[in-house]
Amino acid sequence: MALSSFISCLTPVSALTPQALPAWQGPGRVDVLRLDQLHPLISGNKAFKLSGWLERFESGGYQRLLSFGGPWSNHLHALSGLAQSLGLPVTAIVRGYEHLPLTPTLEDCRDRGMQLVFASKKDYARRDDPDWQQALAEEYQALVIPEGGQGRAGEKGLAALAPLTEDYDEVWLAAGTGTTARGLAMHLRPGQTLVAVNAVADQGALRRRWQLLDWPCQWRLLDDYHGGGFGRCGPGLLQLIEHCDGEGLPLDPVYTAKLLAALHGEQQAGRLTHARRLLIHTGGLQGRRGVPGLTHP
Ligand SMILES: *Cc1c(COP(=O)(O)O)cnc(C)c1O
Repeated sequence: MALSSFISCLTPVSALTPQALPAWQGPGRVDVLRLDQLHPLISGNKAFKLSGWLERFESGGYQRLLSFGGPWSNHLHALSGLAQSLGLPVTAIVRGYEHLPLTPTLEDCRDRGMQLVFASKKDYARRDDPDWQQALAEEYQALVIPEGGQGRAGEKGLAALAPLTEDYDEVWLAAGTGTTARGLAMHLRPGQTLVAVNAVADQGALRRRWQLLDWPCQWRLLDDYHGGGFGRCGPGLLQLIEHCDGEGLPLDPVYTAKLLAALHGEQQAGRLTHARRLLIHTGGLQGRRGVPGLTHP
């Protein structure tokens, strides 16, 4: 089997069906696509981005995969699951220090066979430096995947989800690097709108990058729902997560809770039209273990 057809053998995308958002009062309708339910080891949008990178791995003659992430990284978590499922060696450059206790995320990664190499904050800051990436590629004989699986290869992996967006006027999702949003947008039509909720307080950096690109569809980037910055989960967000737990929609604290906060915020501000909306639940539920009081459902 070609590695690149890996995603289709995990869960046929056709088996994923969007479900109506519980208790939605309008305007319009909201369906949720639960990518958190994709696979027990490889959750959410990361599976799609990584499938794009696997295609490159196959064509390259590499010995292993290598990527970067912080101690709660959904990307490293998914990558470790993928590498284990396929029997591929994998190395992670982790922001942190060896002598500190591992987070549950990194424990999972280690238990799945991922080699963890710790980098100080200062070294880790060089993760996008092509010289360092080249040196790592040579040292480990590895395909170097950028943090979060970003890049053109990552975007291409989103093509598999395109058929599920066809019947909607708007496609909503949370954005970090914006790779998933951009990859999905490439398959939308001029009459459709991509709505991305920025999980990062980035002072307009993502917006400026996007303004330079050609888009086949309309897009909106909501910059006011980061809740204090990346990885911040204040009391309001926590309350929303607990509320949604009660409705059977588990959210993660870093991304999808902000997506729902944005939907409700825009609804209350009267800025929603009578549209058919698809919300993409991008997964990340493992990260709930980093928030006191929440468990991994
Ligand atoms: C990584 C991640 C995102 C952000 O994806 P980008 O492609 O970097 O924008 C969104 N949601 C979850 C749950 C994630 O883990």
